[in-house]
Amino acid sequence: MNESTSRRLFEQACELIPGGVNSPVRACHNVHSLPLFIAEAHGCRLKDVDGQEYIDFVLSWGPMLLGHDHPEVTKAVRDAAGRGTSYGAPCPDEVTLAQMVVDAMPSLEMVRMVNSGTEATMSALRLARGVTGRDKVLKFIGCYHGHADPYLAAAGSGVATFSIPGTPGVPAAVVADTLLAPYNDLAAVETIFARHGDSIAAVIVEPVAANMGLVLPKAGFLEGLRAITAKHGALLIFDEVITGFRASYGGAQERFGITPDLTTFGKIIGGGLPVGAFGGKRAIMEHVAPRGEVYQAGTLSGNPLAMAAGIATLRQLKNMDYAALERRVSAFAHELRDILAAKNVPIQMPTIASMFCPYFSETPVENFDDAQKCDQELFTTFYKQMRAQGIYLAPSGYETGMVSFVHTDDDFARALDAARKVTF
Ligand SMILES: *Cc1c(COP(=O)(O)O)cnc(C)c1O
Repeated sequence: MNESTSRRLFEQACELIPGGVNSPVRACHNVHSLPLFIAEAHGCRLKDVDGQEYIDFVLSWGPMLLGHDHPEVTKAVRDAAGRGTSYGAPCPDEVTLAQMVVDAMPSLEMVRMVNSGTEATMSALRLARGVTGRDKVLKFIGCYHGHADPYLAAAGSGVATFSIPGTPGVPAAVVADTLLAPYNDLAAVETIFARHGDSIAAVIVEPVAANMGLVLPKAGFLEGLRAITAKHGALLIFDEVITGFRASYGGAQERFGITPDLTTFGKIIGGGLPVGAFGGKRAIMEHVAPRGEVYQAGTLSGNPLAMAAGIATLRQLKNMDYAALERRVSAFAHELRDILAAKNVPIQMPTIASMFCPYFSETPVENFDDAQKCDQELFTTFYKQMRAQGIYLAPSGYETGMVSFVHTDDDFARALDAARKVTF
C-alpha cells in the first residue's frame, strides 16, 4: 500500500515533535511500522492522507463508540462553535452533562468536569488523599491511569508498550506512596492492607483492565476490593475512562453491581473532544474546591464545545442496544479466534461488551505477567498484514480492540476475510 504522504509527514513531524507524535503508542514502534496520518474519518472508516481507507478498530482509543462524525454529534459541535468556544464562566450544558452522567452512573451523586482522563485520575487521587488524610494509593500492575506521576509505576498502555518501569522524571518520593499488586490477586491486596491498611487513601482499579490488552476481572475480584477498602476506611476508585458508557451505559459499576466511592471518566464522555470527569458520593465530592478544601481547577474545564459533544453522544448512547452489540462483537471475536487458531498459532481472544483482544498466548491472560508473555512477534505479523488489507488495529499487543455501534456485519466479514489471509 502506498503510504508516501504519511511517511513524508512523519519525517517532518519527527523534526518538530518528539518521536513525531503527540502520544507515544501512535508512533507504531512496537509493531515496526510507521504511523498513518489521518485525513478524515466517518462512521467506522478512517481515510489516511494517501487516500487509503481502513476499518477502524481503535476508535481514537475508545471515545468513538458512535463512530466518527456522527451526524448528531457533529451538528452539536458546529452549533456550539457558533456560540463561542470558551467563556471561563459556567454554561448551561455543564449542568446538562453533569445530570446525564449522574443519572447514568449508579454510584454518582456529584461530578466535576476536567479535560482528560489523566486529569480525572490525578484529581480523584488528590481528593481521596485529602478526604482520608492518608497518602498511599494501591494500583494494579499493568493498569493505566493516565500519565500523572503517582500512577507511573508499573503502568499499562504506552508505558507497557515501551517497557518503561515507571519513567525518568518521576521522583522516587512520589511513587514511594504507590503500592502495587497483580491484577486479579485479592490475596496480594489483603497482604498489602495487612501491612499498610491505615495509611492507604485509595485503591484505584480499571474494573475491566483494557490497557494491558483486555483482562477481565475474575469472579469476586471487584467485590473483594469493595470489601477490603470498606473494612480499612480506604476509598475505592473505579477508573472507568474506558469502561464508562462502554461496559454498559452505566459503566462497569452497573454491569458488575459494585458501588465505588469515586469514579473517573474520559474518552466516551467527551464524544471525541477533550473531556474527563470524576465523581462520586456527595459527602466525598463536597470536599472539592470551592465547596471544600481540596483544590482542583481548569481554564477550559466544562468547555462548551466539549460539553455539547458529550451531551449529544450520551443522548444517542442512552437509546442504543448494548446487549445486541455485545452479541455481535462476541460472535466476531470468536470467529476471529477460530480463524487464527486454525493457523496453528497460540491464541486467546477475550471479549466483553464492545471490546476484544487477540493475545498470542497458549494460556488465558489474567494479569500483566501473563500479558507480557504473549508472543509480540506474532502480534506484529498479524498487525502488519491486517493493516495492509485495510484493517486498522491498535499498534500494540497491550491495547484492546474497540468496536462501535456503526460497525456492520459486512465490516466484520471484511476483517475476518483479512484475518484468513494472514500468514505467520
Ligand atoms: C486513556 C486512559 C486514561 C487517560 O486518559 P487521557 O485522556 O489519555 O489522559 C486513564 N485511565 C484509563 C483506564 C485510560 O484508558
